[in-house]
Amino acid sequence: MDFLGKSFSYRQGSLYCGNTRLSDVADEVGTPCYLYSATDIVSRFNAYAAGLEGQRHRICYAVKANSNLAVLGLLARAGAGFDIVSGGELFRVLKAGGSASAVVFSGVGKTADEIDYALREGIHSFNCESEAELALIDAKAARLGKRAAVALRVNPDVNAATHPYISTGLREHKFGIPISQVEDVYERAKSLRNIDPAGVSCHIGSQLLETAPLLEALDALLVLVDQLSSRGIAVRHLDVGGGLGVPYKADQKSPCPTEYAGCVRERVAGRDLEIMLEPGRSIVAEAGVLLSRVLYRKQTGGKEFVIVDAAMNDMLRPALYSAHHEIIPLRQKGFGTIHADVVGPVCETGDFLAREREIANVFPGDLVAICTAGAYGFVSASNYNARPRPAEVLVENDGWRVTRERETYEDLIRGESL
Ligand SMILES: *Cc1c(COP(=O)(O)O)cnc(C)c1O
Repeated sequence: MDFLGKSFSYRQGSLYCGNTRLSDVADEVGTPCYLYSATDIVSRFNAYAAGLEGQRHRICYAVKANSNLAVLGLLARAGAGFDIVSGGELFRVLKAGGSASAVVFSGVGKTADEIDYALREGIHSFNCESEAELALIDAKAARLGKRAAVALRVNPDVNAATHPYISTGLREHKFGIPISQVEDVYERAKSLRNIDPAGVSCHIGSQLLETAPLLEALDALLVLVDQLSSRGIAVRHLDVGGGLGVPYKADQKSPCPTEYAGCVRERVAGRDLEIMLEPGRSIVAEAGVLLSRVLYRKQTGGKEFVIVDAAMNDMLRPALYSAHHEIIPLRQKGFGTIHADVVGPVCETGDFLAREREIANVFPGDLVAICTAGAYGFVSASNYNARPRPAEVLVENDGWRVTRERETYEDLIRGESL
């Protein structure tokens, strides 16, 4: 079960995370409910760190993958930095006990207020995506009497060969500054009084199951670092972005973070550079499941449907990307499989969690785990169909606790008026 972290296993016919039986959590907290393994999250983070041992580095967890406060707190204590894409994510990192000085701010559309907030808090650096943004950061920094450390996000024109919605490193994508133009933008950055051109960065896409495109991008960045150096611009850090994929399917193989980080270390050996990585998905995906209960079985139009209490508002990935998540019963079933669509209660045909899938022969009342749900799961949950967002639970040491309560109907109307 590579699609689940190492803490998950069946014991006496029931699915456990560590010593926690998942059906006990579902019975107590209700469903749908996200559950994460602290051990799995920290060990994946450590796997990256192990590959970079001996090299000056900073692993900035990409907050957008899972921004639960307890998850951020765990990673802060494990020594992570953070990659943010909004002011709200900076607020979460600080609330979780993360240090602003370990935060890099990415994204194509940073607002003036967000830049201001990040400068006031004293973040490590901005990953800047355009000349216009550079000018705005300079102006905001001038007003605060600060010098802003900036890495230009380079678009290396490398094909990440992943889902088109999450591939970001081709020339025609909205991200980064084309590598052919970036030296001129560095010259401009150098001329701005309140900008410190401290680094170079890139991020070519997500869910990459091969590391070759990531290493190709790294090589392009290293050439750039040398060219900048010959122009008198000595960058101090190199940020390779995130993007390592995870096995969503039973037979999928995914790159090992330690091996990948080791390849990065070999390529940069001997250089006086702080190496930064921004992994998101590969830290948290396998560490999480979405627990759900079967409501009904229904046969219609020659098809079999399993209707569960989790829906596209709780977990958007299948509807948005046709993403595949394995769905397994919390109590092992001894009596065969069925061929079915697993769907939620939302009034959309696109509201499915699995299509034409061979799954256990589950019946109303049975509990299931939607696997590999720790990344881009809860963070994409919405209140569509006026459905309260699910609870989140963290399994840590020998116990578990609710780290975010299930929303109530009152939560649904907070801030509204007639
Ligand atoms: C989304 C994102 C990441 C994380 O990507 P993963 O595929 O989850 O590792 C890292 N950096 C930037 C700039 C991103 O936008």
